[in-house]
Amino acid sequence: MSIQAANKGTMPVILLKEGTSETKGSEAQKNNIQAAKIIAEIVRTSLGPRGMDKMLVDSLGDVTITNDGATILKEIDVQHPAAKMLVEIAKTTDNEVGDGTTSAVILAGSLLEHAETLLNQNVHPTIIVDGYRKAAKKAKQFLQDIAEKTSGNDRATLLKIAKTSMQTKLVRKNSSEIAELVVKAVLSVAVKDGENFIVDDDDIKVEKKAGGSIIDSNIVQGIVLDKEVVHSGMPKNIVDAKIALINTALEISKTETDAKISIQNPQQLQSFLDEENRMLKAMVDKVIGSGANVVLCQKGVDDMAQHYLAKAGVLVVRRIKESDLTKLAKATGARIVTNLDDLFEKDLGSAALVEERKIEEDRWVFVEGCKHPKSVTLLLRGGSQRVVDEVERSVHDAIMVVKDVMETPLIVAGGGAPETYAAAKVRSWSKSLEGREQLAAEKFADALESIPLALAENAGMDPIDTLASLRSRQLKGEKWTGIDVMKTRIANMKSSDIIEPLAVKHQIVSAASEAACMILRIDDVIATAKSSPPPSGGEGGAPPGMGGMGGMPGMGGGMPDMGGMM
Ligand code: ADP
Ligand code: MG
Repeated sequence: MSIQAANKGTMPVILLKEGTSETKGSEAQKNNIQAAKIIAEIVRTSLGPRGMDKMLVDSLGDVTITNDGATILKEIDVQHPAAKMLVEIAKTTDNEVGDGTTSAVILAGSLLEHAETLLNQNVHPTIIVDGYRKAAKKAKQFLQDIAEKTSGNDRATLLKIAKTSMQTKLVRKNSSEIAELVVKAVLSVAVKDGENFIVDDDDIKVEKKAGGSIIDSNIVQGIVLDKEVVHSGMPKNIVDAKIALINTALEISKTETDAKISIQNPQQLQSFLDEENRMLKAMVDKVIGSGANVVLCQKGVDDMAQHYLAKAGVLVVRRIKESDLTKLAKATGARIVTNLDDLFEKDLGSAALVEERKIEEDRWVFVEGCKHPKSVTLLLRGGSQRVVDEVERSVHDAIMVVKDVMETPLIVAGGGAPETYAAAKVRSWSKSLEGREQLAAEKFADALESIPLALAENAGMDPIDTLASLRSRQLKGEKWTGIDVMKTRIANMKSSDIIEPLAVKHQIVSAASEAACMILRIDDVIATAKSSPPPSGGEGGAPPGMGGMGGMPGMGGGMPDMGGMM
């Protein structure tokens, strides 16, 4: 099918390529809203400490078990363009503040669901968008009003913040121990900047190893490399290390062209090998000449070079990740050298100790007591690969929320308290708006309550009753009152130590309302034809690994792939 526009009744003007499909007006809107609602519905049951986990199976059969919103949405292969926008906000929220991804998606879904009611009552999308935008701004202001100031390096508060973010994860039982590690790590890399702090989370390296239990996790003041020393004849530990960081191979480079050397007699072969050895020896001499006793190399190291370096008592690790080399450069003060002719003593970095240690069946190299102490590694452990993977995700969230509070030391309660408060405030403020925008602002307030509703529902509490009593308690001025889902009752969240960064709540409101408004403003979906599939593609329309989704309305097979539009 091609889209044609009549040109004064004569010749049709062909605008779009053969095979392009177009959905217009309210049909397009309904379709987009439907898709977004489904995405929100998928993650809704995983909100909060009582939320359920999802088991995700990718196209290779790998299994991930998680209740992290961003991870769930990353793993499922969403096709619908509007659904993709929700996946996008989960990703941005994850990058910006680390936590609150599920909440952002639930809020966006709820905003769209409420918008649908208004659209059915013939409220124009532009009016809804305007009302939502104003309400979002107000909601953020109301949240700011109840936020409490703390000090950026108040350990007790940071611990509670980290623990709250881990309450909803598999690591909950060990959250005290992990929170200690996380706060220690963030505090040791934080840099004071006027009143507040700046935290570069890249300074915290996270390594994981299945085996042991979660509480065996550890913090190392330095950098851990998941590689072993290359040669058995090399020392396994070096005190007072002088470290060369090299991102070129310690090998004889092969020629680009296909050259043949014809060798007529054994002497020639010998002299050829001698020449190779001589070149390798010259390389190694340059390294040793710089005074280095540890060589950390991004590329390969030739066997012969290993032999010479071992003889000189140098500890060598090869095939180090580029990102690790950058971290090592920062930590040890070394300069990464590409050309061995440029390697001098001044380029070397230093560390008190470089040592190979056994971690389960592997051997890893630890670089400790670095010149620049602002580099740490969290060494995460857990019963199985799936457990350590989930520990890693939780630790990521925890690092981010601690960073959020150190950078913007404002906190609010958790357990749906701030959302309920902001909803009530937005509702009464909405009365001041003229016309139909008022309806939109009211709906915004209703949507904010989707968070306490989901928390209550997931805890097996009656959502309506719980929300009603929460509202009335808050009306009496109990701003910190929320839903204690572990004890299934309404309680002061601050006294249960459930606190969260204001930054996360702000991000949830901004990301969700932006996505909802963007989806509402679309009244035309034009999708170009899918380019012909590769010959091997015998999978049909269903996205890999999520065959079941193809049947859902508005997703997968329902529409052509509009990936190009995002
Ligand atoms: P998100 O991806 O949005 O962070 P989570 O599954 O981590 O989703 O759930 C976060 C929500 O759970 C927040 O609203 C937080 O306040 C709430 N929460 C965490 N711990 C508790 C608790 N012990 N009691 C009540 N609510 C809690
Ligand atoms: Mg969370």
